[in-house]
Amino acid sequence: MSSQLVILSMLFGATAGAFLPRIAHRLTVPFGSPARSACGRCGRAYPSGAAGWLHTGPACGVGGHWPTVTFAVIAGALAAALGPVPQLPVHLLAAIPGLLLAMIDLGCLRLPDRLVGVFVLVGGIPLALLAPDRIVPALAAGLLVGAAYLAIALLPGHGLGLGDVKLGAALAFLLGFAGWPAVAVCLGTAHLLNGVVAAWLLVTRKGRPIPFGPALLAGFLLAATTV
Ligand SMILES: [Zn+2]
Repeated sequence: MSSQLVILSMLFGATAGAFLPRIAHRLTVPFGSPARSACGRCGRAYPSGAAGWLHTGPACGVGGHWPTVTFAVIAGALAAALGPVPQLPVHLLAAIPGLLLAMIDLGCLRLPDRLVGVFVLVGGIPLALLAPDRIVPALAAGLLVGAAYLAIALLPGHGLGLGDVKLGAALAFLLGFAGWPAVAVCLGTAHLLNGVVAAWLLVTRKGRPIPFGPALLAGFLLAATTV
């Protein structure tokens, strides 16, 4: 592992992270609503086309600078853990839709299908090209976890949404390329984190729903860097 690789990856993470607040803010909308055409704080209309999406820094204090810092740390951790392998750029690129999903789920308890789709394509196509013999086990992991989560989501009083089911299946598919231990670390970490947050909310008597997407994505990151 070279320190240059870590620093370059962190620079990539910080740069890409600076663009995330605007995109996440525009996509943090209720189910069925189109993306915001104007700022949710000051009402100023966004420019049409790419200029309205690609803007760095926090707008009207929305988002702050934590995506820049978080993405830099995540990118550095990925580079340090994976080293100079072809999987590193794949994970760095997949972290863009991954972080957006976490930000949007924290904001409005939603995991937009199209963004989950982008995440699967950005991560899945290169992984499948790098390890074609792992496609079948990866698909099996995705289907099995998706079916199990769907069964849980259909139970009354569960707390899992259909977005969580789809993201869980997507992450199991991507980690299925590495094997079942990676899938287990991801899901185990996600439920552990979710349990800690639920217990904390119970203690502080804040009875609000907990987004599961960020916990799943944190579990994914741990699995991708340690297994
Ligand atoms: Zn504004």
